[in-house]
Amino acid sequence: MPPRTLRLILGDQLNEHHSWFHSIQPETTYLIVESHAEATYTRHHIQKIVAFFLAMRLFAERLTSLGHRVVYLQLDNADNRPSIPEVIASIISREGYERFEYQLPDEYRLDQALREYCATLTIAHAVADTEHFYSARADVASSFRGKKQFLMETFYRAMRRKHNVLMDGNLPIGGQWNFDTENRKKLTNPSLVPPLKTPRRDVSPLCAMIQSAGISTIGEIDEHAFPWAVTRSEALEQLEDFCRTRLPWFGTYQDAMHTEQETVFHSTLSFALNVKLLSPKEVVDRAVAEWQLRPEAISLSQIEGFVRQILGWREYMRGLYWHLMPGFRSMNFFDHHRKLPWFYWSGETKMNCLKHAVTQSLRTAYAHHIQRLMITGNFALLAGIDPGEVDEWYLGIYLDALEWVQLPNTRGMSQFADGGIVASKPYISGSNYIHKMSNYCETCHYRRDLRHGDQSCPFNSLYWNFLDQHQQKLSNNPRLAMPLRTLAKFDDSELVQIRTQARAYLDAIERL
Ligand code: FAD
Ligand code: SF4
Repeated sequence: MPPRTLRLILGDQLNEHHSWFHSIQPETTYLIVESHAEATYTRHHIQKIVAFFLAMRLFAERLTSLGHRVVYLQLDNADNRPSIPEVIASIISREGYERFEYQLPDEYRLDQALREYCATLTIAHAVADTEHFYSARADVASSFRGKKQFLMETFYRAMRRKHNVLMDGNLPIGGQWNFDTENRKKLTNPSLVPPLKTPRRDVSPLCAMIQSAGISTIGEIDEHAFPWAVTRSEALEQLEDFCRTRLPWFGTYQDAMHTEQETVFHSTLSFALNVKLLSPKEVVDRAVAEWQLRPEAISLSQIEGFVRQILGWREYMRGLYWHLMPGFRSMNFFDHHRKLPWFYWSGETKMNCLKHAVTQSLRTAYAHHIQRLMITGNFALLAGIDPGEVDEWYLGIYLDALEWVQLPNTRGMSQFADGGIVASKPYISGSNYIHKMSNYCETCHYRRDLRHGDQSCPFNSLYWNFLDQHQQKLSNNPRLAMPLRTLAKFDDSELVQIRTQARAYLDAIERL
């Protein structure tokens, strides 16, 4: 007789194709918990908590309908406990399970907690892979063992070869690995972007439960029209819609930002991927199949740009997270300690780019990559904000925010707090780049053409001031050689004016 087994499913492990579910095992019970600790380890966007709980509830219903035995503990259930190990302990002791199993958590915090808990167990226990990613946790670290530098491009090319994606033998299809230079077009006509097809759910009872549990949240929600895909079938519809309508322009406009277009041609699939409703392989395979079907409509640069994000960046970030934890959380290369200005939580600033990126994030729990990297992240780095405060903001505000992907993107790529492990240069810019890729500057209070003086764009003085302040730390970086040469050409009076302007803006940061 097989042992009576309790299997834990975490809120981001909603993969109905996992081998656990290939057969019905009457002696096995699946446990899914709305955890108070997980809902409060940082202050999350209300839409993020709703999306997680809803997706978990619907996943539990799905497993039950397939014949599996499921125990689902809502946040307000009397049997619930503050932390996941406490819930497991109380159920095991009450029900007398003989074996405990869980899937490898993607979050370091949960990985530690479950390891520590299992070390105290007197019954048999085991951990299974999530069967989600292309690569194993340690693959990035082992492929760069003994090397001085990690390079996403090297990892990505190896992944393309290993998984035979967009390959012609050992060479990339079309003879080129990278189309980044072709993928930098400004969006001048936002009505070109097809509207997103999204579900509309009434989530008011769930919102009421979250509120009455005293969980503090950020951001807004339309309780009667919740727009995110939270089941596998909805996520698959979203993937289909993306492949049909947005993929043909994905690469071309992937860096573009616009006041009237929040998602541009991006897929908005990150939540569905991160909670494992979709697998990265099926998303990549489906997009590649669409390109093969319609090569005249979808150029190679579009599909390559999309594949790069999932097969490349997503897997790379996960590998670096596991390589750099737990020290990653305290890295602070530039020794930045300024508080995050209040306008990150309110959107109340005269800087039009930040106003749009922040208000959109508060309203929708979404911003695309360039808004995160080159608007909110760029400003935080130029202003010398403490990376801990920056992490907290990114971890809370986005629907897709899980530490394994948020931390390498924020502390690594965006804040360069690791000194250049994730990214080969700090992602900083003045207003030139923002103007090139968006229409934000056109209606801004500040003047993008000024480095200093009345109404000069804060990004400009802060950019040159940042390079000036940190030139010693950055002088060996070949990717910054050009701006550092330009800085060296500024005469003394220009430098003094830049420094004075930057100081004045930093002193008045809350009023910018
Ligand atoms: P698309 O542009 O359509 O890309 C397709 C998919 O590729 C995404 O769904 C995502 O799964 C993957 N992807 C793209 N870029 C990255 C990347 N840099 N790292 C990992 N995966 C990537 N992504 C998260 O999933 N969670 C986060 O918490 C998160 N925090 C970020 C913080 C900062 C400061 C920055 C600069 C980026 C962050 N990203 C994060 C990466 C990226 O911005 C989002 O994955 C993307 O914006 C999600 O929107 P989308 O699904 O429309 O993406
Ligand atoms: Fe942002 Fe400066 Fe442009 Fe205003 S002028 S939108 S602050 S970059």
